[in-house]
Amino acid sequence: MSMKKTRVPGTRVRKADDHDRGCVLIGDTDDPVVLVHYRRERVVSWDSGFEFVTSSAPDPEDISDDDIKLLCLHCLKLRHPEVERGLLLARAYGSSWWSDEEGSWMAEDEDGNEVLFASGDEPDDAGQEGRP
Ligand SMILES: [Zn+2]
Repeated sequence: MSMKKTRVPGTRVRKADDHDRGCVLIGDTDDPVVLVHYRRERVVSWDSGFEFVTSSAPDPEDISDDDIKLLCLHCLKLRHPEVERGLLLARAYGSSWWSDEEGSWMAEDEDGNEVLFASGDEPDDAGQEGRP
């Protein structure tokens, strides 16, 4: 039996959104996310491993059960598009945080160096060299 899939040239297939992975959010859901933690171990099968902390979250020692929410990861990303880069850094380095000062998500690599996204507002060195 042929398993060949129908494919029309010039089209792309858009998969349905998956709402099957959960994450933890600490703080008020409407406030911006300022910190992302990621752990590789999964507590349950739908666990994404991500934990988000918003600007209104209490200090770690003051967090109560009321501050901790379980949310769908996909829906959280729709609601908080600002976390996309934080997610990438946290997945790579375990944690990331938003820096107002740098205007960027930041993380720390294995050697203790700070890792941040280029802002996109300024041309990077390579780009500058290529200019007339
Ligand atoms: Zn969802």
